[in-house]
Amino acid sequence: MPSIDDLRKTAANCVAAEPGRLGSAGWWQPPLLAAAPVDSRFDQLPRMAAADHLHPTDLLPTARSVIVFFIPFHPQLVKDNQPGQRPCRNWGLAYVQTNELIGRVSLAVRDLLAAAGFASGLTPATHNFDPVRLMARWSHKHLAHLVNLGRFGVHHLLITPAGCTGRLGSLVTEAELGEHPLIQTAEACLLKAGQPCGKCIEACPVDALTEDGFDRSRCWQRLNENYRVLDYFADLPESTDVCGKCTALMPCSFKNPVAKS
Ligand code: SF4
Ligand code: SF4
Repeated sequence: MPSIDDLRKTAANCVAAEPGRLGSAGWWQPPLLAAAPVDSRFDQLPRMAAADHLHPTDLLPTARSVIVFFIPFHPQLVKDNQPGQRPCRNWGLAYVQTNELIGRVSLAVRDLLAAAGFASGLTPATHNFDPVRLMARWSHKHLAHLVNLGRFGVHHLLITPAGCTGRLGSLVTEAELGEHPLIQTAEACLLKAGQPCGKCIEACPVDALTEDGFDRSRCWQRLNENYRVLDYFADLPESTDVCGKCTALMPCSFKNPVAKS
């Protein structure tokens, strides 16, 4: 059976190969990958995420492990997205290209496991949610929390040991991989750990964030509006719903600030 290191290497090779495949410099840093056994922790998903959230065994009845990976963005992209109230062109382009990369990483990990005789179950990187309730039926973020890849920040994004600016993907497999956590602190958000911050709250252009709340609908409207009003998104798919201001050059952008402080 492939080891967790084999899976991590496969994911890293896939991310490293993407700039060459695209013929560009790419937007990514090496990925993180965590795994956990399918156990009772995943029974919490309907309460934590959405009442109709899928269980890992809904994707694959024989699932024994959940794998979640995080592909961090390069700091320059994040820096470029900070100025102004709207996302920059490259932030939108990186979103689209990262969705495709997430699919490729998932397939590469699936193929590695399949070569050893283990089936896997996959879902798309995004747009698998109820447009009215705006809650994912398969939430990579909540799964990432449960496999201990990261912890939620006040901005409702996952803060991993490599920060929060990047994208998550996940799959389930019948291979028994064991427990492979990556986050080392109970909280990874300064404010949640009782330390001063709140910079993401200040950065949101539509006041969707508060210390203990998230106006999901207000955020979602802004993401949709960005696509409609930005001429330089015109050649990108309609599903390019991006903003990212609450992650741009924050204390948690590229690291777990609680672990470092
Ligand atoms: S910017 Fe500060 S308050 Fe917001 S999620 Fe990051 S660490 Fe937490
Ligand atoms: S993505 Fe943009 S609109 Fe949504 S919470 Fe973050 S800063 Fe606010």
